[in-house]
This record gives sequence, C-alpha cells and structure tokens, in this order.
Amino acid sequence: MAITTVHPTIAHLNKFQLEPAQHINGPLFVLAGPGSGKTNLIVSRASYMIEKGIDPLSMLMFTFTKKAANEMRERVHLKVGPRANDLTVSTYHSFCSRLLRKYANYLGYETNFTIYDTDDQISTIKKIAKDGMFKPRDVINEISSMKNKNITPQKALEKAQYEGTAKDKYVAEVYKQYQKELKEQNAVDFDDLILLSILLLRTQPEVKREVNQRYRYLFCDETQDSSSRDLDLIKLLAGDDMNVCLIADDDQSIYAFRGADINEILKLKARFKGLKVYTLQQNYRSTQTIVNAARSLISHNEQSYEKELFTENKVGEQLMFIDTQNQSQEASYISTLIEALTQNGTYQYKDIAILYRMNHLSRSIEEALLQKQVPYTVVGGLPFYKRREIKDIMSYIRLAYNPLDREAFERAIGVPKRGVGDKSLEHIHAYVRNRASNYIDALPNTDLRGKAKKGVEQFYTFMEKFREELYTMAPKDIVLYVVHGIKYIDLLVEMDEPDMETRVGNLDELVNIAASYDQVDEFLENLSLNVEDAEQIENSINLMTLHASKGLEFPIIIMIGNNEGIIPSWRADTQASIEEERRLHYVGMTRAKEILILTRPKMVMNQGRSQYQEESRFIGEIDPQYIRGRS
Ligand code: ATP
Ligand code: MG
Repeated sequence: MAITTVHPTIAHLNKFQLEPAQHINGPLFVLAGPGSGKTNLIVSRASYMIEKGIDPLSMLMFTFTKKAANEMRERVHLKVGPRANDLTVSTYHSFCSRLLRKYANYLGYETNFTIYDTDDQISTIKKIAKDGMFKPRDVINEISSMKNKNITPQKALEKAQYEGTAKDKYVAEVYKQYQKELKEQNAVDFDDLILLSILLLRTQPEVKREVNQRYRYLFCDETQDSSSRDLDLIKLLAGDDMNVCLIADDDQSIYAFRGADINEILKLKARFKGLKVYTLQQNYRSTQTIVNAARSLISHNEQSYEKELFTENKVGEQLMFIDTQNQSQEASYISTLIEALTQNGTYQYKDIAILYRMNHLSRSIEEALLQKQVPYTVVGGLPFYKRREIKDIMSYIRLAYNPLDREAFERAIGVPKRGVGDKSLEHIHAYVRNRASNYIDALPNTDLRGKAKKGVEQFYTFMEKFREELYTMAPKDIVLYVVHGIKYIDLLVEMDEPDMETRVGNLDELVNIAASYDQVDEFLENLSLNVEDAEQIENSINLMTLHASKGLEFPIIIMIGNNEGIIPSWRADTQASIEEERRLHYVGMTRAKEILILTRPKMVMNQGRSQYQEESRFIGEIDPQYIRGRS
C-alpha cells in the first residue's frame, strides 16, 4: 500500500475533510450537516495554503457576522501565527463597503459616502412619502426586496405601470425618489453596498482586473444563506481562475427573508463550471442522541438534499421537554435549572445558551436571571450604535466626514437645541439643493433670522473647525472632541436623564471602541454596519435569537417558547415558510454538544393578553425515543 504523508497542518482532519482541504485550484463545493467540521475545514485549508507558500494577502474569506470573522482569523492565527493578519476575513457588506471606499467615484459617488441604517432610511422615506399612505418600514422592505432581485427604479416603474397595483405604483415612485435622495446625500444603504459593488465589477473592467489580481482565492462559509445576488458578487470576484471554495448546509438555510434561496445550490454547477462537490459525514459536536433527534426533525422537510451524518461521540442523555404554566414559570424553572447545572462545577455559566425565536422573548428570562443574580449577555441585543447618545455624537462625526449627509445634519443641529425649526431646516435644504452646496459650507450664507441665525452660526463655527481637524486626530480623540466640544455631559444633566449613568457609560464604551481604530473611515464603517456590540461579560449565560446562534456551539442549549405561533411563527403560512421554521429549530437543536432542553409555556402574553398556545408541532416531530418521558 502506498504511504502518503499528510502535511501536519491538516493531519488532524478526517478522511472526508482531507480531500477538499487539498483541493486548491478550481471551484469546489462542500455540502454537509451541522457540526461536521465545515468551518474547521475552511480554517485548516487556509492554514495549509499559507504553509504551502500562498500569500495570505491573496485570500478572501466570507463569513456571516463580524464575530464569526474574528473567530476565523484567530483560529488560523493559532495554526500559522501572525501571517493570519494578512488575510481578508469579512462579511459581504463590509467587504463591499471597503471596495467602494476605494472605487466609488467610478460610479459617480464620493468615496466618503455615508452608510444609512434603517432609521436613516425610514426618516428619508418619511420625507418623500409625506402622505404616510403606507408604513415606511413596509416601503423600505419592498424596496429592499426589489434591490435583491436587481430591479432598478426604472424597471419597477415600468412594471408597475402595466401590471401593478396602486401600491406597486406608489412604491416604485417612492423608490425612484429615494435613490435620488440618497445619491444627493452621498449616502448608500446596505443593499446598495452589494449592488454598487456588482455594478462596479461589471462595468469597470480595469477595476475588476485589479481586484481579481489581488484576491486569487475565495472562501465562503454558510453559503446556504447567500442570495443569488451575493453569488453574482462571488462569481465576479472569483474571476477567470474561479479558485473558490463554497461551504453550505441547505438544512440550515434560515434567511429567506433576506433573499437566501436553497434552489441556488442547484444552480451552483451552472454558475461555476467544473465545480467539484464534496461531503463531510462525521459530526464531532454533539452526542448521538442530539444528532439523531435533530435528524428526525429535519427529515420532515421535503426540500432537503440527502446527507449522511453520524457521530462516534457518546450516546448522551435524552432531551428534556418541559411544559410550564406561563412565561414567568418557564423563566423561573430555567433559572433554577441553571443553578442546579452550575452548582457542582461541571458546567459554568458560559457553557449555557438560551435560544428564542424573537427578541422580545428574552424579557421574562432576563427578569428571572436578574432576580437570581445570574450574569448574562444578550448577544446581538439592541445594537450599540442605535442608542441615542451614540447616535448624537456620531452624527457630528458623520457630518464632518460627509457634509452631504442630511440625516446626520438634522440630528446634529438639534443637539443641543439651537432654535432651528422645521421652516429653517427646509430653507437650508433648499439652499443646499439649489446651489449644489453641502450642510457645512452652506450655513453662513443661508440668510436666516433671529434665534435660528445665531444657532446656525454657532454650529457652523464648531463644524468648520472640526472638519479641518478630523483627519489629524485619532478616532478616540475625535469622539472626545465632540463630547467635550458640545458639552454633551452637561446636556444630559440638564435633560435630567433617568439613566444618565448608563448613557455616560456607553460614551466611555464608544471611546474604547474608537481606540481600537486608526482611521476615522474604518471606525465609521464598522459602527454603521452594526458590528460592535457592547462588551461581553466574562463567564455569563448567553441569550440570543435562533438566527444569531448560527455556526456556534455550547455544551448546554435551552430553547424556550416551543409553541405554535412562536416557532413556527404565526407568520409562516406556506409549506415553504413552515420548512424554513423547521430548519431554524434544527439550527437551534444542533448547537448543543451535550444537553438539550426544550421548554414551553402553556399561556403566552400576546399584546397585553394572556393566551393559550399549543405545543409546537416540531416537538411532536422529534422521534419520541430521544425525549425523556415520551418514549
Ligand atoms: P455548523 O454547521 O454548525 O456551522 P460546522 O460544520 O461548521 O458546523 P465546525 O464548527 O467546524 O462544524 O466543527 C464542529 C466541532 O467539531 C468543533 O468543535 C470542531 O472543533 C470539531 N471538529 C471539526 N473537525 C474535527 C476533526 N476532524 N476532528 C476533531 N474535531 C473536529
Ligand atoms: Mg460552521
């Protein structure tokens, strides 16, 4: 028998992982179940390539969250040391944002564009659609869904003209004006980041050549949640060499609402000619009981590709399913259980994650944990940058960076109140528009009277100087410059804020976050892409939505709210959407390494009323032999 030696970087991989790890050139696709070492394969493959002499600068790795990106870089770092720092590990949005910072002027944008978040979008829509016929959030969603399908405002208008409802026409009209507004403010939304990058690579061959020469090897984890638009982007980035490694588990596709489509997996072979398909079959994460229980649930889905999955791990304990009277009983049951599990030192708080379908379900759990003084961290809770004090300070920095940013201007001029009312604002907007000016340069010439005039003068003096100094200061000093410059703490005191201490604490945290950046544009970008969460408490219980749990693993998983109407959500009213909910439940179950606990309150609070809600159908679909007391 021939003896082949395996490179030490990948020597720990199993027989399924070894082949794709050594497949370097040409497209490959790995389709495999949860915990089978897909992410591990990416890390090992990248490390192996670096060891083989491939320049890490030429490697581009996509993950789904910033957290996952950091973890991936760290894991490569463990294997190959500081060379890992040269890797580009990023989300699609953040990569596109950096691409556009370099090349946006090819598309008629300035490179100092602002990234508008949902609040900025809604506020912009409200100004366009003043009649308020439809909810701004609905309109935003419809626009986003059109952008997902690559429908331009022009196309939307044409389509609505011939076959659309009154609402379609309305939305198409708003969409057109919205795009125009954004461009005038040198702003883009999240969808634009991807669409404009695609447009850039499609229409500017020299840019594409440059980008393709830089990034020669692509990796994409969690491809099952990429939309067809994301895959267009990957295809363009992959260039002629198509050295692209795609990883997916179709059973874990949970982002249909953001345009993910399992059927895209079928089309991969057509997109990437010569695509080689691999599969991994051994689960290293969970006990046999958890693997089998999860498989029995997902087997109820019709839309699923055949995959083998076995584990050599121990059989483990049966799942627990706990029925309680209501949500507060569910919460107090869980907090008592946590005490028991952590009492003798076998498990620590950080070994436990509590998962739920919707954000608001964490409330009763949080109350119970607070009462027992059990430390917890809400992963991906209210994003840090959405807090008022953070938005106030950031609006100044945004405006100094991009003086066309109307949303930032409107916020900054009102903090502190400067006597500039709606009329004066209208006047300033009209001036900026008619003279093709911006929200700083225009101010001395806007010819206002009385209080507004004084307020605007004072604001101008501050902004003028601040803008000049913006690039001479480190991000941390920029934050302090604004906080002190506008006497923000005094302002909070004057407003007699009840949670003053928390707000000041958040400002400190903002300074800390800023201190980790060298450049103001990187700092702005990361805050607006919603990736900086407040500090994680060490050794605490993890609370998160099922969506946020993707890719993670914990010794103990507690899934709450196993009711009809919660999971599956009451919104799921088609076969396809029920299957998506089932996948979501499956993702939750497969996060568990050793212990899996499912709970359900009989009565659920709904719009202030307590209501009986049936047990989730997914509990009944799990083979009862794996649930304690059911077999
Ligand atoms: P998910 O679908 O949930 O993202 P995954 O397929 O990406 O899961 P990983 O997170 O890569 O799985 O691996 C799951 C666990 O198995 C991790 O703890 C990892 O360290 C371990 N693991 C992966 N491959 C091996 C291996 N060859 N030998 C031992 N342990 C492994
Ligand atoms: Mg993974």
